Amino acid sequence: MKDLPEDLFVEEQRQGVFFGLQVHRWLEKHPTAYQDLIVAETTLGRLLALDGKVMVTEADEAFYHEMLVHPPLMTHPAPKRVLVIGGGDGGTVREVLKHPTVQQVTWVEIDQQVLSACRKWLPRVSAACWQDPRVSLIVSPGEKWLRGLSELQDIIIVDGSDPVGPSQALFEQPFFANCSQVLSPNGILALQCGSPFYYKEEVQMVWNRLNRLFPFVRLYLGFVPTYPSGLWTYAMASTTDLQVAPAELRDRFRGRGLGQCRYYSPDIHIASQILPPFVEELLAAESAG
Ligand code: SAM
Repeated sequence: MKDLPEDLFVEEQRQGVFFGLQVHRWLEKHPTAYQDLIVAETTLGRLLALDGKVMVTEADEAFYHEMLVHPPLMTHPAPKRVLVIGGGDGGTVREVLKHPTVQQVTWVEIDQQVLSACRKWLPRVSAACWQDPRVSLIVSPGEKWLRGLSELQDIIIVDGSDPVGPSQALFEQPFFANCSQVLSPNGILALQCGSPFYYKEEVQMVWNRLNRLFPFVRLYLGFVPTYPSGLWTYAMASTTDLQVAPAELRDRFRGRGLGQCRYYSPDIHIASQILPPFVEELLAAESAG
């Protein structure tokens, strides 16, 4: 077997399955109050990893952030107030701010050290989004801060990591219930739900929990090459229908002037909701959750 490079970042994506990135320079490697943080210069640009899992690489972060943000915001006719929970690298907030209808972004991130490390080493991801006058950045556990929120939100985006460690609370029923209470009448909750190939139970759990609370739930797919298997799922949930006519979607895309995205387009928006049979079966199967 080819000799492995000396400096390697390795993620065990699931038991017995490994993903590796050659490291040219370790930039930060230490625990924070909540998780183990790594920032490194790698073959795919700068990498942020938390608790040994790839969160962001410069090479493919736009694929992830565009698909977490634009489907819900384009589905809403005129999103004004947006709540982002997590997303310490700033990529999610950066994409939200591209929508001219957005007037207020409340960003709640648990870990100050993630914010600081990303500002320092991953400036291209955040594009200094915290400087935008529409953004209010709060350092707090999102689930705790949400309990005190009274102002209705048009969009809530949960950009947590996997449902373990500090993010676990962001995948639990009480949190989803609290989200449903602070959404405006046609508001939308959106979150990433993991790999439908390696983390079947996680996808089923989120699907079941959202369906208990919302009449309209949509799962959709995206491609994030540095995430486990590369095929990634996201969910949107609302009390109003999430279907948008293709012509309307294209009008909104033109009207909002999002410019040339790296992954999202109105056609991808539509195509992302067409699920392969193995994912449809996952959603049809009864499961604990
Ligand atoms: N895109 C990544 C993924 O899919 O795994 C997640 C991106 S982001 C780096 C995850 C962020 O959620 C981190 O900045 C982490 O500090 C933050 N986070 C974790 N638990 C949180 C919580 N309970 N409240 C707010 N932020 C949280």
